Amino acid sequence: MKKQIIMIFFLFLVACNNQTDQTVFGLVIHGGAGTITKENMTPEKETAYINKLTEALKKGYNILDKGGSSLDAVEATIKIMEDSPLFNAGKGAVFTGAGTNELDASIMDGNTLQAGAVAGVKTVKNPISAARKVMEETWHVLLAGTGADAFAKEQGLDIVPNVYFQTEERFKSLMKAKEKEAEKHGTVGCVALDKKGNLAAGTSTGGLTNKMWGRVGDSPIIGAGTYANNETCGVSGTGQGEYYIRGSVAYDIAAQMEYQQKTVQEAAQSVIDKLTNRGGTGGVIAMDRKGNIATPFNTKGMYRGYYLNGGELTILMYKE
Ligand code: ASP
Repeated sequence: MKKQIIMIFFLFLVACNNQTDQTVFGLVIHGGAGTITKENMTPEKETAYINKLTEALKKGYNILDKGGSSLDAVEATIKIMEDSPLFNAGKGAVFTGAGTNELDASIMDGNTLQAGAVAGVKTVKNPISAARKVMEETWHVLLAGTGADAFAKEQGLDIVPNVYFQTEERFKSLMKAKEKEAEKHGTVGCVALDKKGNLAAGTSTGGLTNKMWGRVGDSPIIGAGTYANNETCGVSGTGQGEYYIRGSVAYDIAAQMEYQQKTVQEAAQSVIDKLTNRGGTGGVIAMDRKGNIATPFNTKGMYRGYYLNGGELTILMYKE
């Protein structure tokens, strides 16, 4: 009898372990898609991007390695990129046609399907954290404009004046765009898988250069720029948001996996093919629960990287 009890207890422990311990964990990030070519890149700029993307990947990886949640990893990783002027998110966000900066962000938990987002915020230093607060502290999914800024302040998040986001480089892009509708990508995103097997995804952006004030892109729209579901995958997109909204791009990847049993690579490539056929540009990062990763894009390049346990930290920018 005693032996049987010990045996049952042992089996129980094994079962618990199976539920909570997963062999694969890690994350995949992007720093925007666009005209990113070796010819346009100076060695200094290339190094700066590699260093920042490496820092972001390591930040998220360390959280996951210590047993932290994929949500914590996504938020912390995106914050590193938001705080860097290299990316079109947080500091370094692009300008609206009116000369201001309006930021969008969203986050989704693949385990509970909870999600949070902010659109058109002007004073929140880290919009990704505001998105998470919307998810965890309200019964809503998306807060926009002054209400979202006020909510972030109320939640004790860092508040900055709108000029904080402005950089000379982005201002020059606005001037160029006003002459000729030039495009500038540089949105940031992250999909993480933690040791419990939970996926999370997040995206943060300043939007498109010279956008109309009040314009909201795909990044804060769950199902368009961001999606996560443990049953299928986590996704973050970057590109011309209007196409992503009309195509429900992030959800389309999950749907193709769910209804057509496609792999994450097949599904992600298929949405980029559709994007191309519809005349849109951009890319996506996606990861399933087994740590399979896809990073397709139809632009010249996309800042991207991944770091899975047992694998090497990898940063890529150009077409391979
Ligand atoms: N998707 C973003 C938007 O349309 C921009 C980008 O990814 O570059 O707001």
